[in-house]
Amino acid sequence: SSNTNEEEISALSGVESNDMNQASSKTLDDGVLDLGISADFPPYEYHEDEKIVGIDPEIAEAIGEKLGYEIALHDMDFSAIIASIESGKLDGGISGFTVTEERAQQVNFTDTYANSVQEVLVKKGSVIKQIEDLEGKKIGTQLGSTGDLLAGDDFGSENVQSFAKFPDAVLSLQNGKIDAIIIDQQAAEKFADANDDLEILETKYADEEYAMAITKDNEELFKEVNDVIKDLKESGEIQDIIDKYIKTE
Ligand code: GLN
Repeated sequence: SSNTNEEEISALSGVESNDMNQASSKTLDDGVLDLGISADFPPYEYHEDEKIVGIDPEIAEAIGEKLGYEIALHDMDFSAIIASIESGKLDGGISGFTVTEERAQQVNFTDTYANSVQEVLVKKGSVIKQIEDLEGKKIGTQLGSTGDLLAGDDFGSENVQSFAKFPDAVLSLQNGKIDAIIIDQQAAEKFADANDDLEILETKYADEEYAMAITKDNEELFKEVNDVIKDLKESGEIQDIIDKYIKTE
């Protein structure tokens, strides 16, 4: 159809304009794109020895390459990233950020680059078999995450224990201090794979989409980064990165 043709043409011109961007990028004077990341969220971001690796760091590197910026990843608690972007300490963040209306008041979100869903991680043999069974149970979450907000809204914040870092929530689950963790699908799968005593409930919770967060103080930077994300999506590069970390069934 003519529609397809138009898409093909715009895909081609997208590549060209990108090449021009590369030579003329001066939005960031120091040439460094400072991004917040909470490297406790495999396969999106985690530590391999001292290095921060995963889907998001690779996407960030690809963006840096296209724009001629050095990428500086600042590892911090997830709950601190948006505030640090708002206060001007960071240019943005890439940390499996679900797009929400509330956050969109605080940062500019790029086009989305991945889908996710909230899932429930429990100990094998748990009495918790479905979402309703979470009623009155101790639920672990990551502070400031969408799962944290969901759990508080649906089951009462008095029943929610929020952790700064997911591995601490996993330990508490294994020690019986909490009964379940509400966590994004891919991370749930990685933690379940790495820990024989854990499993994921069949029932899925809320559908979500990830995007990169950019400061509202620099519209030019936002446009630049967003254009690159669009190109990386269109060219399939983002999907290739995701596929490297997530085995499809
Ligand atoms: N996607 C969830 C959120 O945005 C959790 C992300 C994370 O913990 N890194 O709140």
